Amino acid sequence: MDFILATNNMKKLAEMQRILSPLGINVVTAKMLGIQLPDVVEDGDTFDANAKIKALSACKITNMPAIADDSGLCVDYLGGAPGIYSARFANIVEHNGVNIDNEKNADDEKNNDLLLEKLSGVPDEKRTAYYVCAICCVFPDGREITVRGECHGKIGYERDGNEGFGYDPLFIINGKSFGKYEGEEKDKISHRGNALRALTAELEKIL
Ligand code: IMP
Repeated sequence: MDFILATNNMKKLAEMQRILSPLGINVVTAKMLGIQLPDVVEDGDTFDANAKIKALSACKITNMPAIADDSGLCVDYLGGAPGIYSARFANIVEHNGVNIDNEKNADDEKNNDLLLEKLSGVPDEKRTAYYVCAICCVFPDGREITVRGECHGKIGYERDGNEGFGYDPLFIINGKSFGKYEGEEKDKISHRGNALRALTAELEKIL
């Protein structure tokens, strides 16, 4: 059975294909089908809501079962920020107590610099953080599955390692940064890996 994955991120595609193919699921992107998915406004206020917005849109346009994810980093000391704004953390500026969000993603370097700045002087025990990944799967007949995976660690004091992406060089788990984990080693404990395993368990019940 073909499922459409609402992303252009080839790393996510490879990860989903690897985990879902044993269930007889072939994951494809819109691009692989020669379809252009419209940009959707991710205006949900949770990871789950944003994943659902993307999956519903892809399902409606293709009439295929659709999968979408939404993920980010929640830092306890920052009250859960950057959270759903993780990709554009450094582009949200505060002006007179109001956050101005131009909805444009910032580059990883700027996001990491801002995170280090906000945690400057914060001691080890208060640097706890966790990644979240919500995955939503929507079927053309209206069935819907939403699952969530988390991965708990700490924010380091400086970047370490070149693997992964986003905040990985700063995210420390089991004594080393995600920037030093090989892909499959990260999958075993990552938020996305955990969410995908939860999705697999749910799909096994209905397929
Ligand atoms: P999205 O779900 O692909 O839109 O990701 C949102 C943002 O969260 C990314 O741009 C990263 O900044 C951050 N993020 C999500 N998952 C990870 C991860 O596994 N490693 C590092 N950063 C991540």
